[in-house]
Amino acid sequence: MAIDPEFEENRDIAEDHEGHSVWGPVEEPETLGIHGTHVAVDFDICIADGACLEDCPVDVFEWVDTPDHPESEIKADPAHEDQCIDCMLCVDVCPVDAIDVDPGRAGRI
Ligand code: SF4
Repeated sequence: MAIDPEFEENRDIAEDHEGHSVWGPVEEPETLGIHGTHVAVDFDICIADGACLEDCPVDVFEWVDTPDHPESEIKADPAHEDQCIDCMLCVDVCPVDAIDVDPGRAGRI
């Protein structure tokens, strides 16, 4: 299952994390939602492959600990989504289609 590119319409903002929105539902530790808006990562799909961290030319992502999540115990957090240059590399390399990037989405800084 890939990230829902229409998450803005289908979800509500549940909380703020390190300056970016988290789109719910969030019920830790099993359900973590989608982090970010311009650069959105579905934490419930992310398996911590790491290709996005390696390939992003402007270091948008940082690892965060997510103990006891069923898919992986760390996640690629779009901590610096305001730096994104929309190259789409992360979208292309993610093996589980957990990332969606849309510069036109509300929330772009
Ligand atoms: S689209 Fe490019 S610049 Fe933006 S987060 Fe993905 S890899 Fe980084």
